Amino acid sequence: MKAPVDLQSDVGEVLVSEEQIQAKVRELGARISVDYAGRELTLVSVLKGSLPFMADLMRSITVPVRIDLMEVSSYGGTSTESSGLVRILKDLSASIADEDVLLVEDIIDTGLTLNYLVRYLRGKGPASLRICTLLDKPARRLVEIPVDYTGFTIEDRFVVGYGLDFGEFYRNLRYVGVLRPEVYSTPPAIGEPEA
Ligand code: 5GP
Repeated sequence: MKAPVDLQSDVGEVLVSEEQIQAKVRELGARISVDYAGRELTLVSVLKGSLPFMADLMRSITVPVRIDLMEVSSYGGTSTESSGLVRILKDLSASIADEDVLLVEDIIDTGLTLNYLVRYLRGKGPASLRICTLLDKPARRLVEIPVDYTGFTIEDRFVVGYGLDFGEFYRNLRYVGVLRPEVYSTPPAIGEPEA
C-alpha cells in the first residue's frame, strides 16, 4: 500500500477521541492498581497494535510491573478480516511461570487471536492470567472469552488509530476513527499495476 498523503483527512469519523482514551487509560490503570495492590504484575502486550495502549497503561499503573512483548500474525485472512490462524513471530523473552500476568490487547473482534494467546500463555503456568483490552467489538465474537478490563465497546466497524492500522499506516493517530470508504477502495494510480 502507498503511504497516505494526509492521515487526518482520510479519517471520516472519530469514534473515540484522544481525551476519551486518556481518561479511560487512567481509569483502567487505577482499577488495575487497586486489584493488584501489594503484588507485582507482568504486562504482556501484543505487537504492533497494542503498543500505544501498553505504553500509556503501564504509566497509569502504580504497582511494580514487568513488561514483555509478543508479536503474532494472523494469516489466511484479508487486510480487514482476521482468520484465526495465528503464527508467533516474537515469543515472550522471559518465563511467566507463577507470575500474575495481564494480557494487554488493542482490540477484540472475533476473539480467535485472543483465544489462541490465552491458551498459549496458560500453558506457561502463570499464577493468574487476566485480559485488558482497549476496544471490544462483541458483534463479531466467535469464541467467548471473559475479558476483565474493557476500555470501550464499539460497533462493528473497521477502526484505525492509536496503534491500529490499515495497510500498516494510521497507527500514529492519537484517536480511534473510521476511514472514509474511498480510502479502503482507492483505485490504483495511472501506470500502476492492478493488484
Ligand atoms: P480477532 O482475532 O479478535 O478477530 O482480531 C484480533 C486482531 O485483528 C486485532 O488484534 C487486530 O490486529 C485486528 N483487528 C480486528 N478488528 C480490527 C479493526 O477494527 N481495525 C484494525 N486496524 N484491526 C483490527
